[in-house]
Formats: sequence, C-alpha cells, structure tokens
Amino acid sequence: MKSLIVANWKLNPQTKREAEELFKKVKAGIKSAKNAEVVLCPPLIYSPLFKGLALGAQNCCSEEKGAFTGEISASMIKSAGLDYVIIGHSERRKYFSETDELINKKIKLAIRVGLNVILCIGETAEERDASKKTLILKSQLENDLRNISKDDMKHISIAYEPIWAIGTGNNCSVQETTTSLLFIKQTINNLYNRETADKTRILYGGSVNGENSGAYIKEAGANGLLVGGASLRADDFVKIVRSAE
Ligand code: PEP
Repeated sequence: MKSLIVANWKLNPQTKREAEELFKKVKAGIKSAKNAEVVLCPPLIYSPLFKGLALGAQNCCSEEKGAFTGEISASMIKSAGLDYVIIGHSERRKYFSETDELINKKIKLAIRVGLNVILCIGETAEERDASKKTLILKSQLENDLRNISKDDMKHISIAYEPIWAIGTGNNCSVQETTTSLLFIKQTINNLYNRETADKTRILYGGSVNGENSGAYIKEAGANGLLVGGASLRADDFVKIVRSAE
C-alpha cells in the first residue's frame, strides 16, 4: 500500500502568486516520488490553477445543494476535478462547531459523489490527561462512520491527529503514535472486519516536519501523513514526501 501524504494548506497563502510559487516548487520537488501518493489541499479558489498533482478540498457542505450561502458541495468538488476531501478536521470541529453527526452526513455525501475521504479524529490534551483518549477515538469512529458500509470504507482514510500536537511543534512520540494507530485499526476491525482494517490507510498528523516524518511511516506504521504547517514550506514538504518513499 502506497503512503498517502496530504498537504493541508488551511487558509494560506494569501495571494495567488504565492500559491502558484509554492505549487510549482512542490510539484518539481516530488516529481520522482513513486511510492507515495501525494494530495494537496489548497484553499479551493486556487485549485483550478494547479495541474499535475492530485488535489483535495479541506471541507465540504453537509447539504447536497440549495440555499446555503458561502458553501461548496461535494459534487461541486468532484466535478471540478478534485479527488479527495478532508472531513472532520479538529479546526472545523472547534471553530465551526462540527458535530460527529454532521461529519457523518458529510462523509456519506462525499462518498456518494465519488470523492475519497480523509477523516480526522483525535483527542484534546485534557482528554488525554484524563486517560480518555481511546474512549474519544472509539466514539468518534463509531459516530463518524455510522451506517457507512464496508464497501464505502474503500474510499476512506483515517487521520489520527492528536489536537495537542497540531500546530504546536509538540509532535506525538513514535511510541504513543504506534499505540494509537493500532487502537484505531482494532476499532475498525471491530466495526467491520480484519480485511477492512488492514486495507484502510491510517495516517498520522500533528507537527510533522522533514526531520520527524520518516519515523511515523517506518517505525510507528502510519500509512501516511497529514501535514499542516510544514506543507507551506516546499523544501520541508518535499523532504516529508521523500521520507515516505
Ligand atoms: C493539521 O492541521 O492537520 C496539521 C497536522 O497541522 P500541523 O502539521 O501544522 O500540526
């Protein structure tokens, strides 16, 4: 299984010129990558500028169509030529009050139109300190994947993103990541079966950079990485992709 390396540019960069420059550098730098599948998730307004790399959206609307000003639907994303969508990112959960129920609705819509989903789950520092990590991960998986079939799981990757590790420089240790990824795999096994658990890519995300990325793939057994801050630095991101080769 190829490693899935996802760049989440979030609300960056601020100009078209900077976005084009970053894309050009990343594209040139990863040209020879054969064993990693790279997906860039820029702000959607930039995506028509980018040709030659797989693209994803950072979010989609929970409604199919209609009077929802400012929203972008899953089918619009698909018909614009993008193949992936990130759903349930902790920033969406926190700043836009997204619930597991809403996330579940978005996943179903995205799959129905043929998008591949990167579902983000992860615990806060407080939940981790209160030894509630596995409880949280289990409940997010159960609720976010409610009524999603074994067949649909072929189009879903899970990104384990401990919230305390996102954008903090405080990346999760390889040892703790290994345990959490195994727990997620086991939970998918319980919800579906062994084959589905084995085939579902489970990514790590949280302060990944060119120095620490290789260990998540090679030691913790991550099937890929979700990269925020470092994906805005072309050199660092290229290094991350190469470390997954
Ligand atoms: C993220 O936003 O998904 C993320 C992992 O960010 P960062 O790499 O900056 O921690």
